[in-house]
Amino acid sequence: MADDRPPSGLRSLLRDDLRGESPYGAPQLAVRAALNTNENSYPVPPEVVADMLAELGETLPGLNRYPDREFTDLRSALAAYLSRGGEPIDPVQVWAGNGSNEVLLHLLQAFGGPGRRAIGFTPSYSMHAIIATTTGTAWTHGRRSTEPGRLFTLAAADVAEQLGALDPHLVFICSPNNPTGTAVGLDVIEAAYEAAPRAVVVVDEAYAEFARPGTPNALTLLAGRERLVVTRTLSKAFALAGGRLGYLAADPELVDLLRLVRMPYHLSAPSQAVARAALRHTDMMLSTVGVVKAQRDRLVAELTALGFAPVPSDANFVLFGGLADAARTWQALLDAGVLVRDVGIPHYLRVTAGTPEETTAFLDALAALGPEHH
Ligand code: PMP
Repeated sequence: MADDRPPSGLRSLLRDDLRGESPYGAPQLAVRAALNTNENSYPVPPEVVADMLAELGETLPGLNRYPDREFTDLRSALAAYLSRGGEPIDPVQVWAGNGSNEVLLHLLQAFGGPGRRAIGFTPSYSMHAIIATTTGTAWTHGRRSTEPGRLFTLAAADVAEQLGALDPHLVFICSPNNPTGTAVGLDVIEAAYEAAPRAVVVVDEAYAEFARPGTPNALTLLAGRERLVVTRTLSKAFALAGGRLGYLAADPELVDLLRLVRMPYHLSAPSQAVARAALRHTDMMLSTVGVVKAQRDRLVAELTALGFAPVPSDANFVLFGGLADAARTWQALLDAGVLVRDVGIPHYLRVTAGTPEETTAFLDALAALGPEHH
């Protein structure tokens, strides 16, 4: 995104490689259905709020001291949660930050930087490229399939070929992928790991809990792969986006290296307390996942019935095509009080699966639009 205008004023002081870049900027608007940032629409249950308040009550008098820099209890709780999947994860394999965005930043600070190359497969989560750029890491937009019927999928051989040509230092594979909802097979991750022998391979699984039955996750691949990292977050299925807590699982030595780049005490004592309380109520915090998945499947079915082209999704959102002009439809939906996401793919919009009422509001608003939107 180079900008050839001569810099003026403060802009002239900005790093050359940031000039002309735009900040991440999903609108935050008061609307009846906010379906644009893949949050969980359900509030934190009152029982969990009560436990958070109790935990905060014990924590706040101690704010005169710095928090536990190694977030020991939280690490144990996150490791126990991940181990529920069947693959034992040890607390020394876990790292956390203020959202998985900060965890991704730590990975790029430690393994990227000037003179180094990172790649992701576009369209994907825009922050991978943005964080790479802010750390001075050269970013390559890898390709996904454009074949009808396999649209936006990744095939092992194609990924291996792209990585072989680049020899990257970091590889980002988002599964299920934002904004397409597409999950990858474990063969793709294995192929990426083999084809990029000196790269840290990051599998961004922010939406893992929404996957359909039979869709694998990469935790099972960690054993014996010291360069493999799986990132997760409490922001989506766990309904804790405002708590800002993301984490990863990886080899203990890789985790230890991340301590070189984090700011001391980066996880505040209240953040740790709130996340610990949430994890004590894992089943309750995840109790809405089934409802959200049902709305996701309903969106796919009803969008198809309306004549649009939804992409099969393993996440809590659906990307759908078949729009004459995505920006115009985005505005028309907003005028009807429904905020969705224009991710910049021509003729496509992305909608988050929320409550049944929000899904109905979205589908009704879309159905009410004139034929010029098709
Ligand atoms: N990864 C992906 C794929 C995402 O979509 C998001 C949020 N939109 C994140 C990471 C970051 O989430 P958080 O920082 O809230 O954990």
